[in-house]
Amino acid sequence: MSLTVVGSIAFDAVRTPFGERERMLGGSAVHFSLAASFFTDVRVVGPVGEDFGADHYEVLGRRGVITEDIEEISGGKTFFWRGHYEYDLNTAHTDDTQLNVFGDFSPKLSAASRDCDVLFLANIQPDLQRQVRDQCAEARFVAMDSMNLWIEISRDSLKQAIAGVDALLLNDAELRMLTNESNLVRAARQVMSWGPTIVVAKQGEYGAALFTKDTFFALPAFPLDEVADPTGAGDSFAGGFVGYIAAHPEQPLEADLLKRAMAHGTALASYNVQEFGTERVARLTPAEITSRVTDLAQITAFVDVPLSLRS
Ligand code: AMP
Repeated sequence: MSLTVVGSIAFDAVRTPFGERERMLGGSAVHFSLAASFFTDVRVVGPVGEDFGADHYEVLGRRGVITEDIEEISGGKTFFWRGHYEYDLNTAHTDDTQLNVFGDFSPKLSAASRDCDVLFLANIQPDLQRQVRDQCAEARFVAMDSMNLWIEISRDSLKQAIAGVDALLLNDAELRMLTNESNLVRAARQVMSWGPTIVVAKQGEYGAALFTKDTFFALPAFPLDEVADPTGAGDSFAGGFVGYIAAHPEQPLEADLLKRAMAHGTALASYNVQEFGTERVARLTPAEITSRVTDLAQITAFVDVPLSLRS
């Protein structure tokens, strides 16, 4: 039972209405790994530059994330992303993206990473996602994420990557953009016609919706009265969702399992946004996750509707 993830390992500069950080540990694979580490062994694949220090490895190491497949490129600089959010925290505005060591990265996975049971292709250039997907031929479940940048500049490659996975997790606006379809149900159906059997539309503070051929399920985001920084919320959701699936290999990939996975993804994302970057999830405890999933189950429990309508 092991989970491999490829994605960005980054330094992020982020400004929100509630504060800013000039350089913090981030990246899709980092946020994903920290969240998924509560469920199973996680191996993270990706390059970093010489500026990636022992303190950064330590954030991952303290959560037991296996960093053997992080490749340090001598003379290189770590991927850098600068973004900001307005009062509408659902939309990240990218101010700068420096691929740096990702520019000519060619992933070479160790045997242990290739042998994974579950694979997550976190947001990164879709050619790299495909290269990693091809190396993990035996994985029983493969999921992926992406973003507007790659839909704009690498659409064909992205569609090929999507065709090779079981589940696509994407923001609702990106799902519409990818499929040129304004209706989310039809957009999800279109993606399923390309190959995946599961589509999750992430909807920021409104939660997430899950589509399969015969299931629809949605959860609101956990209601929080203070949100500091939404960066990494989608990746933390994915870490909870995919991590939960990885931890339950005996259960069929059907509604019951997927709903529980959605609840764990929602819980992880909610903690992530309470502080900047990885700050909160890095010191999270399993008991806190369980408590939030329990609260979420309570606030979303539905009662029988009495049939007493007037004609
Ligand atoms: P999200 O979960 O969508 O908020 O993802 C935020 C993370 O995505 C940040 O930590 C960034 O470092 C990372 N990121 C931003 N742009 C890109 C990109 N073009 N490719 C890969 N990762 C990115």
